[in-house]
Amino acid sequence: MKYWRKPLDLEQNRASLGRVVIIEDRCKGCEFCVTFCPRGVLRMSDKYNKKGYHYPEVVDASKCVNCTFCQVLCPDFAIYVVEDIENSMTTTAKET
Ligand code: SF4
Ligand code: SF4
Repeated sequence: MKYWRKPLDLEQNRASLGRVVIIEDRCKGCEFCVTFCPRGVLRMSDKYNKKGYHYPEVVDASKCVNCTFCQVLCPDFAIYVVEDIENSMTTTAKET
């Protein structure tokens, strides 16, 4: 993330990273999560689930910022995100 100025407490805050979990067989292929992810983390897979729909897959896991927007948008509770604590902590260690 780029700031127009450097926040005074930047070193005290750690960046939160997320790990996306997709429950493939719940998905109905609406693409909301793919379309509205602000970081371009997801894309639709070529594969089909048990219902015959394409489901999302992660393109670049390192871009997920744990905003949970995909989780909130999904009408079928087929995707959620958990904080990637290990890598979030690593980010802090690098910055300080
Ligand atoms: S949590 Fe946010 S950044 Fe991560 S995949 Fe979902 S919408 Fe994208
Ligand atoms: S928002 Fe939910 S149902 Fe729609 S494509 Fe994403 S995971 Fe599937």
